[in-house]
Amino acid sequence: MPASRLTPYNKKRDFAVTPEPPGRIGKSAGKKRRFVIQRHAATRLHFDLRLELDGVYKSWAVTKPPSLDPATKRLAVEVEDHPIDYGTFEGTIPQGEYGGGTVQLWDNGTWTPQGDNPQRDLARGSLKVCFDGKRMHGGWALIRLRDKDTGFRKQPRHNWLLIKETDEYAKPGEPDALASEVTSVKSGRTLEEIASRSRKVWHSNRSEKKEPEAKPRAAATRAKAPAKRKAPAAAKPAAKKKLRK
Ligand code: MN
Repeated sequence: MPASRLTPYNKKRDFAVTPEPPGRIGKSAGKKRRFVIQRHAATRLHFDLRLELDGVYKSWAVTKPPSLDPATKRLAVEVEDHPIDYGTFEGTIPQGEYGGGTVQLWDNGTWTPQGDNPQRDLARGSLKVCFDGKRMHGGWALIRLRDKDTGFRKQPRHNWLLIKETDEYAKPGEPDALASEVTSVKSGRTLEEIASRSRKVWHSNRSEKKEPEAKPRAAATRAKAPAKRKAPAAAKPAAKKKLRK
C-alpha cells in the first residue's frame, strides 16, 4: 500500500488486536462535512476532536471538555489524521495498544468552515468553524500556537487552542458547562458501560481460526451482552475476570 495521509495512523496500530478500523481514505463529502468528538479514557481522559476534510478526519486531542466560555481556551494537541470509518467507533482499545482505553462517541454532527478555504486556514494555523452537533453548536476557532522546540529526539507536535466564539451558544463564565455530559450520543452509555460490553465486542470479532482459544472466551463474554444474543447457559462469571488484562 502506498504511503498516504493515513500511514501514521496505520503504523501506530495492530489491527489484529485493536477493534479500531483500519485506515482508508474515505469519499469526499459534500458541503456539509462530518465531525465527531470521542471521549477517550486513555492514560488521561481527553476529548478527540475530528473534522472531516478531504476524505480523512483531521484530529486533535483536547485535554478538557470543550469550554462554552469564550474566555477559556482549551489546549488541543494535533494528532494523526484518522479514517472516516473512525467516526462511528465506540469501544475499548486493549491495554498495551496505542491509545489503550475506552472510546465513547461524545458528539457528532456536521461542521462548516467560516472561510472559503479550510485547507489553507488549517495550514496557516487559524481555522474558524461552525458546528451543528448535539452538544457543540455555533462558532468555534482552532488557533495554532507557535511550535516549541522539542529537541531532535522528539517528534514535533503542534499545539492548538480550541476557543468558543461569542454567539448565542456561548456561556460566558461557565467554562465547564459541558463537563456534566458523560453519556454517548450514539448509545447513551457511560464510559464504564461501554468498557464492560466492549470485552465482548472485540473478542467475538476475532476469527476463531486465527485464534482457537478465543472460542470459550467469546462464549463467556457473550453472556454479558444484553438481549440481542442468547446467553449460553454454560457461561461462568468467573471467566470474565480473565478477560481483563
Ligand atoms: Mn485519543
